[in-house]
Amino acid sequence: MTQPEQLQNYINGAWCSSAAEQYLAVSNPATGEVLARTPLSPSEEVDQAASAAAKAQQEWRRIPATQRIQYLFKLKALMEEHFDGLARCITIENGKVLDDARGEMRRAIENVEVACGIPMMMMGDFSEDVALGIDEYMIRQPVGVVASICPFNFPGMIPFWYLPYAIACGNTIIVKPSERTPLTMQKVFRLLEKVGFPAGVVNLVNGGPETVNAILDHPAISAITFVGSTAVARHVYARASANGKRVQAQGGAKNPLILLPDADIEMTTNIVTDSVYGNAGQRCLAASTIVTVADAGKEFRPALHEAASKRVVGNGLEEGVQMGPVITPQSKTRIQGLIQKGLDEGAKLLLDGRDPIISGYEKGNFLRPTILEDVPVGSTIATTEIFGPVMGIMHVDTVEDAIQLINSGKFGNMACVFTSSGAAARKFRFEAQAGNIGINIGVAAPMAFFPFSGWKESFFGTLHGQGNHAVEFFTQTKVVVERWPKEWSRQF
Ligand code: NAD
Repeated sequence: MTQPEQLQNYINGAWCSSAAEQYLAVSNPATGEVLARTPLSPSEEVDQAASAAAKAQQEWRRIPATQRIQYLFKLKALMEEHFDGLARCITIENGKVLDDARGEMRRAIENVEVACGIPMMMMGDFSEDVALGIDEYMIRQPVGVVASICPFNFPGMIPFWYLPYAIACGNTIIVKPSERTPLTMQKVFRLLEKVGFPAGVVNLVNGGPETVNAILDHPAISAITFVGSTAVARHVYARASANGKRVQAQGGAKNPLILLPDADIEMTTNIVTDSVYGNAGQRCLAASTIVTVADAGKEFRPALHEAASKRVVGNGLEEGVQMGPVITPQSKTRIQGLIQKGLDEGAKLLLDGRDPIISGYEKGNFLRPTILEDVPVGSTIATTEIFGPVMGIMHVDTVEDAIQLINSGKFGNMACVFTSSGAAARKFRFEAQAGNIGINIGVAAPMAFFPFSGWKESFFGTLHGQGNHAVEFFTQTKVVVERWPKEWSRQF
């Protein structure tokens, strides 16, 4: 039997084997097949990447932005050419259905396209004659070496919230993919190699928590982006900030969707079930809690039950499948444990998706859609991120109560309302405490030219990923006050 491939790092323009003592098996979550082994790279390899990136940055920042973006145009063309292969790789290592993987790669490419506007996005400001004969201006310069630490659920897209902006602004980068889904970045780095970036501009270091900590402590790295669970986001933010780095750390979520009685039943039911069960609930913008207002529950409960029961579960590569597996057997056990906890706390089981048999995929980490209703306020199941295909239904009497319920939660990634009332929607938009708001939208994912705006415990930092926020994060301002007149002038 052939051994699964041992993945390599890409440092200073070359693929290199890791000297890691530990490797982790990367498995296809639909079949259980071991696809590869990923190194838990030691701190020496982070040091090699950081040193190479620091050296390369000195030259890279001298290349005009108009020329730096030519590399991105080439990258975009290569990503289009390899679009289907990249999407298939996402499905194989992550489990999401092929259409969702395609959507993920589309958003990744969109970020490359937006970053091609960097020459204009990183322009400075100029004021003439701030005093007689004196001019003052502000320019943006790169921060240096940056590192992106990524989660398992969007292995193709999330590095692209950062990489194109970082390098177009004149920084060099180290990407640390999730050790559970490292394969898509292997493919992406083959494309980056083809683009022909100077050695050290883009680097890939595989690994786990120890590799992350080495990144957070490395003195040559100036800025960190992190996306993952709240506990780790908090750790990354605290440790990197204490080391004097700028940090943006996106955390977990528990996203509520409010259904008002005047919402369109058919459209809303389809959108809500897609939001809860898309990517098997493993989206940071997945709906988790459905709050029915007044008598909305009467029609929505049976409609949601019917739509969820019909969801086709299986291998995401197969035509017609609507929901794939969750990422690991441990994740499945954790989700099933949370469902049981919800029942113990008093919720009722409207639809039970535990331990399904998916013919031909007995070794996959499958669950079917689950619905818990009458979820008690403040219970574990009402307040914990499940990150699996579980809908929790709660009920309140008024829009005010619904908004209060949302705002009492600790997360603030996304909140959505379904209604045909403009006034109710406006009130919701104004008062709901979340950074991404959907109005008759179930996954309010910002396009690449808007920031991905988590609030509260869903985000630690000031500037978010994507668009102008990324440009501000990856540049530091320098203000110059300048005098050129021949004679001395003083004015009071
Ligand atoms: P995770 O926190 O387990 O891992 C994320 C990264 O942190 C990985 O690269 C991992 O190697 C590293 N890591 C894990 N434990 C660590 C530790 N103790 N010390 C240092 N580094 C550590 O997250 P995940 O399970 O891969 O991803 C799912 C989570 O990500 C969910 O909570 C989801 O909501 C969140 N997420 C958030 C957003 C957002 O935009 N807010 C987007 C996608 C995913």
